[in-house]
Amino acid sequence: MKTIDNFSGNFLFLSNFSPHSFRDETDTLWRTNEHYYQAWKTLKFSERGRIWSASSPGHAKQLGAEVTLRDDWVHAKFYVMENGLNLKFSQNDYIRELLKQTDGYHLLEGNYWHDNIWGDCNCDKCCKTPGSNWLGALLMNLRKEIINGE
Ligand SMILES: [Zn+2]
Repeated sequence: MKTIDNFSGNFLFLSNFSPHSFRDETDTLWRTNEHYYQAWKTLKFSERGRIWSASSPGHAKQLGAEVTLRDDWVHAKFYVMENGLNLKFSQNDYIRELLKQTDGYHLLEGNYWHDNIWGDCNCDKCCKTPGSNWLGALLMNLRKEIINGE
């Protein structure tokens, strides 16, 4: 199967850093899915607000590394990511169409920052270990739901 293994350039829309904003169930507007994901690492309102207002997804990620982590994060993170992806792709028609057009391609979040949970790191140290690629898996699942839903 053909693979898209780099979520940048033409495929930046697959990245949580892509500038596609969306509103959540409380009508809060999130600049990127990275903001949404990092913010929900914590249940402390003030910490979440700081991440919400971060000027870039990179900054949101930095702030997310410093929060008071919620107790159930080890499980909740998959739900939060899936929810964010659903919101992002349901509210941005253009990239929902682009996601559909990747049908037939395996989506693999190749990276070099040692993330072997959401993706698969290609550095010299990690390259022998296959990553779990949860981001790719959730995207492929969402793609299937979108295609089947039409
Ligand atoms: Zn690595």
